[in-house]
Amino acid sequence: MLIIHSFVLETCACMFKEYEKDKPITGGINMSNEQLDLLRKQLDELNVDLLNLINKRGDLVKEVAKFKPNQGADKKYDPVREHQMLEKLKNQNEGPFHDATIIHLFKEIFKAGLELQEKDYHKEMLVSRKRKNEDTIIDIKGEKIGDGQPHFVCGPCAVESYEQVKKVAEQIKKHGLNMIRGGAFKPRTSPYDFQGLGFEGLEILRRIGDEFDLAVVSEIVRPQDMEQAAEYLDMIQIGARNMQNFELLKAAGEVDKPIILKRGMSATVSDFINAAEYIHSKGNGNIILCERGIRTYETSTRNTLDITAVPILKQETHLPVMVDVTHSTGRRDLLIPAAKAAIAIGADAIMAEVHPDPAVALSDQQQQMNFEQFDAFMEAVRK
Ligand code: PEP
Ligand code: MN
Repeated sequence: MLIIHSFVLETCACMFKEYEKDKPITGGINMSNEQLDLLRKQLDELNVDLLNLINKRGDLVKEVAKFKPNQGADKKYDPVREHQMLEKLKNQNEGPFHDATIIHLFKEIFKAGLELQEKDYHKEMLVSRKRKNEDTIIDIKGEKIGDGQPHFVCGPCAVESYEQVKKVAEQIKKHGLNMIRGGAFKPRTSPYDFQGLGFEGLEILRRIGDEFDLAVVSEIVRPQDMEQAAEYLDMIQIGARNMQNFELLKAAGEVDKPIILKRGMSATVSDFINAAEYIHSKGNGNIILCERGIRTYETSTRNTLDITAVPILKQETHLPVMVDVTHSTGRRDLLIPAAKAAIAIGADAIMAEVHPDPAVALSDQQQQMNFEQFDAFMEAVRK
């Protein structure tokens, strides 16, 4: 009995009583030491057999995973299949273990198998740090985003005119920055709001970029515009509302320009990483992940800045991570603390909106900085 108990204890404590109750088949307390040793030896051998069988099952599970390559890590679990396997085992169970114990044990084995599939899945992801351990550094006009120093992408929410962008460019240069942003295709909540100047806006940005020696960044919303947009822009943004526009992601993967991919407002970190994988899978690995706040029940900020997404993304992927303090907070008074927090937690870059006269801006009047506020912002975050 002692021998059986030792096995039971090693596998599952809950089986102890079960066995004792059902099948007391011992040689009694007078069992000789040789008998005990023999039975223990058999148990040791059985343990190894079980170990080998469990690992053999693990190998098989990994093989199965190869046949479902397009499913996300969280999609590998198949409750119907698990139910069928457990039913079969229950039907074939002849004891001494109760059905409930067998189900408990096999559920653990299945869970371990699922974890193996998930690990393999992440290893296969091009953006995963398991796939490539070194940080990806994106070199754009001498700014090496991902080099451990904070970088800044500032500019108006929308390109409104050449004069407006020029005024912002002067301020950006004044602070020694090398990049400017400005939306030309604005995905607005209301169809009646300013939609952006389109390609005319991109032309303005390019002109400014050339005149001021600045890298220019703008959002593109249609896959068919990607190629043409790449002629104007140094970096292409995919906005939060389009994070899972898979055709747009694939098109971004085919251009030879770095991509700023913004996190969808309802996207999990896993959704976000998968969206980046779409771009990388088409050949473009120059991706900056931009945390820009997610929608929660909190109403004191425009979105909720998920600050810990920064280190999570940096652990899970090798890509640089940016934090957009403007769209995440939606509040001018929070731009400095949010940017400081982002830098402290490891962000590689900060995005913030600046406008010559925010009160008359055609979009995001509430949160763009004027030049004075921009001066204070740059001074505070560089301290
Ligand atoms: C933007 O950066 O201009 C913008 C619209 O941001 P988001 O897609 O994060 O809302
Ligand atoms: Mn904006």
